[in-house]
Amino acid sequence: VPVDRIRNFCIIAHIDHGKSTLADQLLLKTGTVAARDMIDQFMDSNDIERERGITIKLNTARMKYTAQDGQLYALNLIDTPGHVDFTYEVSRSLSSCEGALLVVDASQGVEAQTLANVWLALENDLEIVPVLNKIDLPGAEPERVIREIEEIIGLDCSNIIRASAKMGLGIEETLEAVVQRIPPPNNTVKDPLRALIFDSYYDAYRGVVCQFRVVDGQVAKGDTVVMMNTGKEYTLDEIGVLAPVKTPVDTLYAGEVGYLAAQIKSVLDARVGDTVTLKKNPAADALEGYEDVQPMVYCGLFPTDADDYQDLREALGKLQLNDAALKFEPEVNNAMGFGFRCGFLGLLHMEIVQMEIVQERLEREYNLDLVTTAPTVVYKTLTNTGEELTVNSPGDLPEATKRQNISEPYVRLEMVTPTEYVGNLMELANNRRGEFVEMKYLTDSRTTLVFNIPLAEVVTDYFDQLKSRSKGYASMEYKITGYRVNELVLLEIKINGEPAEPLSVICHRDHAYRTGKALCAKLKELIPRQMFRVPIQACIGAKVIASEAIAPYRKDVLAKCYGGDISRKKKLLQKQADGKKRMKQLGKVEVPQAAFMAVLKIN
Ligand code: GDP
Ligand code: MG
Repeated sequence: VPVDRIRNFCIIAHIDHGKSTLADQLLLKTGTVAARDMIDQFMDSNDIERERGITIKLNTARMKYTAQDGQLYALNLIDTPGHVDFTYEVSRSLSSCEGALLVVDASQGVEAQTLANVWLALENDLEIVPVLNKIDLPGAEPERVIREIEEIIGLDCSNIIRASAKMGLGIEETLEAVVQRIPPPNNTVKDPLRALIFDSYYDAYRGVVCQFRVVDGQVAKGDTVVMMNTGKEYTLDEIGVLAPVKTPVDTLYAGEVGYLAAQIKSVLDARVGDTVTLKKNPAADALEGYEDVQPMVYCGLFPTDADDYQDLREALGKLQLNDAALKFEPEVNNAMGFGFRCGFLGLLHMEIVQMEIVQERLEREYNLDLVTTAPTVVYKTLTNTGEELTVNSPGDLPEATKRQNISEPYVRLEMVTPTEYVGNLMELANNRRGEFVEMKYLTDSRTTLVFNIPLAEVVTDYFDQLKSRSKGYASMEYKITGYRVNELVLLEIKINGEPAEPLSVICHRDHAYRTGKALCAKLKELIPRQMFRVPIQACIGAKVIASEAIAPYRKDVLAKCYGGDISRKKKLLQKQADGKKRMKQLGKVEVPQAAFMAVLKIN
């Protein structure tokens, strides 16, 4: 199809507002996927996504659609991940589009993620087409939600599409709006090639498969291309379109969206945001917006059995081929033995990687029990010699006498809430060292609260707290803004007199006493009794600020079963054995997995 009959668009929505369901309906309506082939939610392609109901990896689908004007159009739908951890990928995929469908649940209204995505879309100059979804629900309030969209976002809603993706209503109108309201790409086919990679993933047969948008020029199978930011060169084995299964073609032109494969070994060599150009006629400048995304959260992963170290290394290496944001480095620590310090974009990313390791393990049928230490943010410290160090683990912090300060990452946090919960959420943010920025009344019943707040405070249980303090009605989004020096201290935990490095935390001096006390109490609860008394202490430097002790067993566990029934005895033994699985020996004390996460449970 000629370039004026191409439309590149994405769907943006708050989680659960119906993005995937609508995408599936568009595929069905255009005959791109037959109903019988439609696995529930085609666009969410991997198991973890389907299980969690969120889109992590992007999927593109080219649809052919004959519009009411009788012309055949090529509509490229680019799906975007729906979580703050993947904002960079979202921004690159939005920048591959000319327009966006903004899906808003008619029973819910505008939420934090809706807003965050809209601002990203506007930054990328996208035409935004609002779609009011779930109008079939008895609780739908279309007029209220339309007013919200108009007042908060400033979009003209006079011809808003009313849809029910679930019932298949408003689908044709949506397709017509894509054709009529979203502009076609610019025709820059005569310029040197510039193609934007907006997604890449590893495929065992083809090597890395990159999804890209041809911004300028054209690209053909067999061309030698250069990745402008990494400088890597490749000869293209295959290019094609996702229709939505891979369909090879010979050439792709400006405005089109497709994939390429060139036996690229790792996604690190063909990164999201990089610009592909031709070696023989290169573009002068790369496209804007490339970033080398840095992990913001780190945790330690340790196999419970030291023999599994190599297996864990292999599993992480394999995941990294497909995940440019995952970082890992060996970590040795006298308490935990050999393991890895792993870096993630955020907590969801961390959880996904852990699930993938488990999946790997199941596929390859090896046993790999892991102990995970509590996630911490990346701190920075200025040493006495004027060197700035990055601190991925509290244990890496130089001694107090050898450093001038510690700084921590801050985010701009936006919470959208029904007005009645404003007080509760203000209190939450204040307790977590939030600094009030502004409050905006979105409508008479909804408010946005903006705070500057340390990332460390929002990556723990902040989201759960927000939900429970707003009866589930508030939503939040955040964006990293930079580092700030604060009065931070290293709170060290000693168990049975020995430093338990993996349990140590960095916290604000004003919160240290409270945190130390709560952490000791929590550890007392989580660490099982031993044969001897186990003191637990929280210290700053040499000073003990809190302590507890776990009393020893009074009797043998089995003593009371003697002569009693054998099955009960077996059960007890089994229970003990199960409890042992994810334990780590810290000195003489066995510490279960839950204790390593204790710090997340104390607020
Ligand atoms: P996403 O997180 O934005 O991708 O949302 P999904 O497409 O996964 O939808 C979230 C939930 O809302 C699912 O249970 C859908 O079945 C449901 N849903 C989606 N669209 C509609 C709709 O139009 N009406 C109703 N009643 N439910 C819908
Ligand atoms: Mg989805």
